[in-house]
Amino acid sequence: MRIELASLEEGRGHFSHTYQPQDLQLDDGRVTLCGVAEVRGTSKGSGREAVVDGHVDACVQVDCDRCLKAIQLPVSSDFSLEYITGGDYEESQVAELTEDLMAVAVFDGETIDLDEIVKEQLLLAVPTRALCKSDCLGICPQCGNDRNADECGCEQKELDPRWSALRDLMNGKS
Ligand SMILES: [Zn+2]
Ligand SMILES: [Zn+2]
Repeated sequence: MRIELASLEEGRGHFSHTYQPQDLQLDDGRVTLCGVAEVRGTSKGSGREAVVDGHVDACVQVDCDRCLKAIQLPVSSDFSLEYITGGDYEESQVAELTEDLMAVAVFDGETIDLDEIVKEQLLLAVPTRALCKSDCLGICPQCGNDRNADECGCEQKELDPRWSALRDLMNGKS
């Protein structure tokens, strides 16, 4: 869905849209939508700048980093985005590069792609390390058993040399 600035009455408008899971192709292959994603908000703008404020509600699914079990994460996030046209952006950069300007996005002065905003909000809501629970035991590296479910009894050897160095240190050897 796109917001056309020319169609806004007196430069202001409301939008709301419900995306079906198949409507949004997220750029990160780890993340999928587990239900509809809803977005609503307001936009205002003239030909050279625009502000879009809104809210996204959705549910995304990722795999646990350790045991690969699917985790569903509710997403409820507010956003406020400023857009200026490319020419204005360059001018303002020459004048002064402030923190505020870094948060400004460039657009063509006519349309804003709401799909891109929603996709970005969904990906921002996903932590870089997603765990099904903070103490997830993960998968046994030897037999592939999910160690949260039951103990497989494999001997857990510390194969990583960094760990054995640490262990030696703690045991007083060096
Ligand atoms: Zn897990
Ligand atoms: Zn095992």
